[in-house]
Amino acid sequence: MYQSKVPSPALQANCPLTTGAGVPTGDKLNVLTVGPRGPLLMQDVVFTDEMAHFDRERIPERVVHAKGAGAFGYFEVTHDITRFTKAKVFEKIGKRTDIAVRFSTVAGEAGSADTVRDPRGFAVKFYTDEGIWDLTGNNTPIFFIKDAILFPSFIHSQKRNPQTHLKDPDMVWDFWSLRPESLHQVTFLFTDRGIPDGHRHMNGYGSHTFKLVNAEGKAVYCKFHYKTDQGIKNLTVEEADRLVVSDPDYGIRDLFCAIANKNFPSWTFYIQVMTFEQAEKSPFNPFDLTKVWPHGEYPLIPVGKMVLNRNPENYFAEVEQLAFDPSNMPPGIEPSPDKMLQGRLFSYPDTHRHRLGPNYLQIPVNSPRGTRVANYQQDGPMCMFHMPSNMPNYYPNSFMCPRDQPKHKETCFPASGDVDRHNTDDEDNVSQVRAFYTKTLSECERQRLCENIAKHLKDAQIFIQQRAVKNFSDVHQDYGARIQTLLDKYNAAEGDKKPLHCYVRQDEKNAL
Ligand code: NDP
Repeated sequence: MYQSKVPSPALQANCPLTTGAGVPTGDKLNVLTVGPRGPLLMQDVVFTDEMAHFDRERIPERVVHAKGAGAFGYFEVTHDITRFTKAKVFEKIGKRTDIAVRFSTVAGEAGSADTVRDPRGFAVKFYTDEGIWDLTGNNTPIFFIKDAILFPSFIHSQKRNPQTHLKDPDMVWDFWSLRPESLHQVTFLFTDRGIPDGHRHMNGYGSHTFKLVNAEGKAVYCKFHYKTDQGIKNLTVEEADRLVVSDPDYGIRDLFCAIANKNFPSWTFYIQVMTFEQAEKSPFNPFDLTKVWPHGEYPLIPVGKMVLNRNPENYFAEVEQLAFDPSNMPPGIEPSPDKMLQGRLFSYPDTHRHRLGPNYLQIPVNSPRGTRVANYQQDGPMCMFHMPSNMPNYYPNSFMCPRDQPKHKETCFPASGDVDRHNTDDEDNVSQVRAFYTKTLSECERQRLCENIAKHLKDAQIFIQQRAVKNFSDVHQDYGARIQTLLDKYNAAEGDKKPLHCYVRQDEKNAL
């Protein structure tokens, strides 16, 4: 679709006040009434124009990642990786590409506090010369599940109980303990890094495995990492709790003020690369989102830096309407078989079409720059652009028109196997968690991790606690034992004051 050139006159400070239709307004302080005491008249279109628009100011909240902060800046290439990818964004050292970034919590509503224990969304939109690239990541390199079909249930378990409208530890821990592949991410979540100090002091990860394709058509698998140049900083549990009350928008404020004060935050961008041959021989599934690629075998390769140097001028227009979609991949970047990524390729644009409408890519913050959109899509709610009148609206056609470019076809790759609903539940869910627990964390960090888990798990029913502890013990006997010791203490102290439990266990129900 070609962009039409509708003139948009710049707003002057002293220009006349108007209705939405641009009609000058004589009085915007008093409704039109019969006599000074009313009633109102239907013909007060100044009032109805104002009120009807106000009634529609809210759009649906994001189901996940509802609370967020956004900023803008650039990505600059510092190291050549053209041997791996032809993507224009990595074309040459020194090249800069505009970016939009949104950081967020996951489970809370739009008005929830920023300093809760929750993964953080870390989504970056690159306005590349060949269209949008959205790297829709998190502040962790892994995730709770590895099969996209579990995502709606996983999120339901983290959000509010449908009866009580309360967060429900039974739901949270029932789901996690039934799916031991969540152990890696749950462990990350309850370490100190589970409550970052704002959005500037955390790392980001593309998390999924992607494919990079070079100019010769040769492909490798790849992971993306952003390391904060501000240094990792986390909040203590006590400080975070205090901020929930005193400054629930701490993360938004911290980012906005830093940029306003020209203290521009930056991240160093790296990739990890795995050849197809290495992937074939890998002892773990390299497309499993609950696994990392060990740095020792797949070292970080420096690529560039990301700098945030502009705050939004309008939060709604530029952040609330900012829509990320992992299926936006320019030539040189492609999906891997990662089941979670494959599921998100559908789910993200689908939710934007619901939340913002089918023409959400025409909203300025979501539109490509440095390239023109040219296709045969048309119409739909809030359509702003149209094809030139001398162009047909179908393809192929016999006239002057945008044509597909064979050089941009996706890489050809072989795929074979039995079509089935393959169960990955029994893959090794503990080895990498064990390495993290025993080697990466210090003794103090391990102890805080176990305390954080026990303080949350204690509010779940005993049989759920037991199943969770068994899973932690499968990672390491010490991990499970420490949590159990703390649970015993809390359970004894709670006595009869056990929290509300909405659901009855299936076999107990049968016994009634
Ligand atoms: P390394 O021993 O080379 O590095 C350990 C990694 O752990 C670093 O990336 C470090 O980040 C990160 N880290 C340290 N503390 C925490 C924490 N509390 N929460 C999350 N990440 C933390 O790692 P390996 O590659 O050999 O993997 C060992 C284990 O480290 C893995 O099993 C995995 O659990 C964890 N890990 C691995 C990552 C990877 O991509 N390979 C990334 C993150 C964690 P930093 O350098 O910024 O301090």
